[in-house]
Amino acid sequence: MHELSMAQGIINAVLETADENNATEVNEVTIEIGRLAMVNPEQLEFILGVLVENTLVEDAKIIIEEIPVEIDCEDCGFHGNAIIDDKDHYAPMVKCPECDSFKIEILNGKDIIVKNIVIEKPEGE
Ligand SMILES: [Zn+2]
Repeated sequence: MHELSMAQGIINAVLETADENNATEVNEVTIEIGRLAMVNPEQLEFILGVLVENTLVEDAKIIIEEIPVEIDCEDCGFHGNAIIDDKDHYAPMVKCPECDSFKIEILNGKDIIVKNIVIEKPEGE
């Protein structure tokens, strides 16, 4: 499952950062998901909830933010957020909101990013 490997990657990255910072606990994790990352946010959240068991992230609040798709239109020069037809979540169509062109360059929206984590450190540090 696509979401499973994504979730595993996210948790590994969070645990690595927590470890580097001598965290005793992770309180909060914010994840940004591009609308074109081909990930179902509910499914991802569910899997994350399972994977964090018995780790430092176990009690963390997990915040998932969906970010819009930013494009440059080659036909009319529009720059901004695209219209996405994602009736089929795994094969979304992206087009220019100004001229309906599909000749666009996608600048943003394909990635999954761990945007922020809040950790707890041992007393006295
Ligand atoms: Zn256009």
